[in-house]
Amino acid sequence: MIKSITILYKQLYVNKLRINIKKDLLILAYHYYMTVEVVRALEGISGERVYTDPDVLRLYSRDASFESGEHPLAVVEPVDVDEVVKIVKLAIQYNKKVIVVGASTSLSGNAVPKTSDAIVVSMAKMNNIIEVSEVDWYARVQPGVRVDELNLELARYGLQWPVDPASSKAATVGGVISNGGGGVRGAKYGPASHWVLALQAVIGTGDVINVGCYTVKCREGYNLLQLFIGSEGTLGVITEATLRLAPLPQSFVGVLGRFNNVEDLVNTVIDIRKAKLWTMINEFLDERLSQLVGLDNKFHLWVGVDVNAGGEGIVLEQLKNSVVKNHGEVVGVAYSLGEFTKLLEPRRRLYTAALHAAFGDYGNNALVFIEDIAVPMSKLPNAVRDLTELGGKYGIKMVIGGHIGDGNIHPTIWVNKSDKKEVEKAVRLFEEIGKIGIKYRGTVSAEHGIGSQKKELLKEALAAKNQGNYTVLYNLMAQIKKVFDPYNIFNPGKIL
Ligand SMILES: Cc1cc2nc3c(=O)[nH]c(=O)nc-3n(C[C@H](O)[C@H](O)[C@H](O)COP(=O)(O)OP(=O)(O)OC[C@H]3O[C@@H](n4cnc5c(N)ncnc54)[C@H](O)[C@@H]3O)c2cc1C
Repeated sequence: MIKSITILYKQLYVNKLRINIKKDLLILAYHYYMTVEVVRALEGISGERVYTDPDVLRLYSRDASFESGEHPLAVVEPVDVDEVVKIVKLAIQYNKKVIVVGASTSLSGNAVPKTSDAIVVSMAKMNNIIEVSEVDWYARVQPGVRVDELNLELARYGLQWPVDPASSKAATVGGVISNGGGGVRGAKYGPASHWVLALQAVIGTGDVINVGCYTVKCREGYNLLQLFIGSEGTLGVITEATLRLAPLPQSFVGVLGRFNNVEDLVNTVIDIRKAKLWTMINEFLDERLSQLVGLDNKFHLWVGVDVNAGGEGIVLEQLKNSVVKNHGEVVGVAYSLGEFTKLLEPRRRLYTAALHAAFGDYGNNALVFIEDIAVPMSKLPNAVRDLTELGGKYGIKMVIGGHIGDGNIHPTIWVNKSDKKEVEKAVRLFEEIGKIGIKYRGTVSAEHGIGSQKKELLKEALAAKNQGNYTVLYNLMAQIKKVFDPYNIFNPGKIL
């Protein structure tokens, strides 16, 4: 190809047909030449684990959100940290971007390449569990291990990594850490930031850094470990993680409650909290979502509590009473975590059920946005009331569900993308939902991250805490990014 372009160029040149044609062809030839050169160099590092098939590149131009992206120039699957260092150095040398991906299940456009001069570095082959310490309660893992696979292995030791996103079958540990993810056990255990002890990462100079400790207490200067958690692949490539573990519960009980309205459901959550029952799993779906996942057309609440053996009966009674006291009906009971996990299966389909409905309504023209606000628990009734009002005001299809036990709600909306007015309305609604998080001193993103979809909301959130001025914090973040990534190669166009 290069040869033929050169010959064509020479002919045109000889025939004095220069100017524009000459320039365009030269640029084309140069780009093509550089891409071939980069791919060859990548193959020199990773051999057959470099992919340039257009169908593969298309797959990696997306994540699970509706954010559109570019085809990267290549996808590479390194197997160890040395290989990652070489790839990062190559990207610096050729001025290419690096987008690290785990399973691409992100919901804010976090894993979508925004430029075509990007190398996607997939962690699919770095998926080993290196060590599990039964005494120190940690696991050393490579970042590509999937959360469910890890927890299956840990169960053999009676341990768990309690960061359990609804996408846990696919999501990788590296992706969860990088998005600062949470999940269905968040009511008790909180998000990833609580459950990582140490990380190894390759930063944007090609250096390998190790941050954090093997101990829970760790004071070693500034907390660089926490900077990486939630950094969405913008500061470096995480190549190993030491995860903090918790014991699996001795025993577990839970109920599934059904309600006629959302107020009663929320009041049940508040009641349980006031009774100082520290729920491990506390999830909900509104009536439409319930129907979409195969339950009755009512509001559903899952509440599960880990207990010491012998305490099951008392706790179960307390849960049942709270549901009934708030005019609900107990429609399911679980006597173990395994039973509760089965009961919870429909809840895990929140997003896929909404997608299914959206595609049913608009076919390939469906455009879906999933929000991710959190509010303090005491503000849940206000936030849910505001959301219901907003839904009515905009007249856009919206369903609500989420991790109600930590105040994290996922309103999901969809429109026909060929209707420009509807799309504009949906974007405004998306922003207004985010502002509910801000209004009640919560957050615009509890666990999905900023990605490319929430950059404006991030500014609003920062401004709300800083007398209307986001710039000081924003500039600090930009400077931090520059320190770790001086050549701006990592996941450009995200967060900032
Ligand atoms: C059906 C469904 C349910 C979901 N439920 C939840 C939920 O309950 N809770 C929740 O928190 N999220 C949820 N999500 C969102 C998503 O699954 C999580 O954010 C998850 O953590 C992403 O993991 P991943 O491996 O797919 O990462 P990816 O999407 O591949 O990447 C996530 C981000 O991390 C970066 N990254 C990935 N690996 C590395 C690495 N090794 N080093 C540096 N950067 C890296 C990427 O560049 C990207 O910015 C859900 C998604 C879906 C589709």
